[in-house]
Amino acid sequence: MKSPESGNRQNSSDSPPILLGLLGYPLGHSVSPVLHRAAGETFGMDIHYYLFETEEADLRDAVRGLRALGFTGCNVTIPYKEKILDYVDEKSEVVEFLGAANTLSFRGRSILAHNTDWQGFLQDWNEKEMGEIEGKNAVILGAGGSASAIVYALAQSGVGEVQVFNRHKERGEELIEKFSRKFPGFNGKAYSIESMTKLPQALKSAHILINTTPVGMFPDMGRMPIHIPKSINPELRYYDLIYNPIKTKMAEELEKLGIKSVCGSGMLVHQAAFAFRRWLGLEPDTGAMYRAAFGS
Ligand code: NAP
Repeated sequence: MKSPESGNRQNSSDSPPILLGLLGYPLGHSVSPVLHRAAGETFGMDIHYYLFETEEADLRDAVRGLRALGFTGCNVTIPYKEKILDYVDEKSEVVEFLGAANTLSFRGRSILAHNTDWQGFLQDWNEKEMGEIEGKNAVILGAGGSASAIVYALAQSGVGEVQVFNRHKERGEELIEKFSRKFPGFNGKAYSIESMTKLPQALKSAHILINTTPVGMFPDMGRMPIHIPKSINPELRYYDLIYNPIKTKMAEELEKLGIKSVCGSGMLVHQAAFAFRRWLGLEPDTGAMYRAAFGS
């Protein structure tokens, strides 16, 4: 397990240090230490947030090690959001359903798993005034872990029809089946993202388009997850989970067509803020967190 510098600064408070971390592989650059340090600064807390790049074979030892060493909690990212559930003692109801967690908290000997991605998305969607979800038609690009969290947020909000477009169509079908079992009346369909007819047809009437694929992310910033069809609903709202770059090419192209578009930096801040509340029971200043990580 490799633990690069946490980049933490000692602050002047006498409070004991709060130990937090991130488990994933590979990790590369992460803004999580900056986000959580900024959240703690408001309360004069000495937050130490470490990046733990962990091999899968070491995951169990790593999480138990953090618990043994007195960590308050940790985040979990790709590729361990599902695998980590083998090593936890309790799962929230959402984690049980989604089969994925991004936040763990340590309570005595117990390791508790939570998912704050769906809450982070919903909070940002509402803050950015992206409009009603209830009864609206949504198109989701991708069917991975974050797609599941997003569809959960939409289903909780009473979304109308959900159409999932994914490279491997079967994965989209599994996602729809899972939601149909949980939410009576859930209206969903899955297609291949390469479908030349279904996607343009769906975007003519969709109100919500969400990209959950990594297509367009740094360093491939010139790419878009789909070709934008000629005729799309002018009332469409676009949300891209990618936060690096801060605005994706897809969002830029849709904005040129007058479509309100938001990318994932706000969701990232809010999922971190929900984790911070869980760990410390305090209300962080999300504006300060955003400025620390992304500037004004
Ligand atoms: P994941 O579980 O690996 O799922 C990735 C999805 O993207 C899968 O559906 C995959 O399709 C599809 N995909 C991958 N490469 C593709 C390509 N070249 N062309 C078309 N489709 C492709 O990953 P995830 O956890 O859902 O994360 C996805 C993205 O969301 C990442 O960019 C991540 O950084 C971002 N994210 C952002 C936040 C935030 O707070 N803003 C939170 C979570 C995730 P197949 O199923 O066919 O392989």
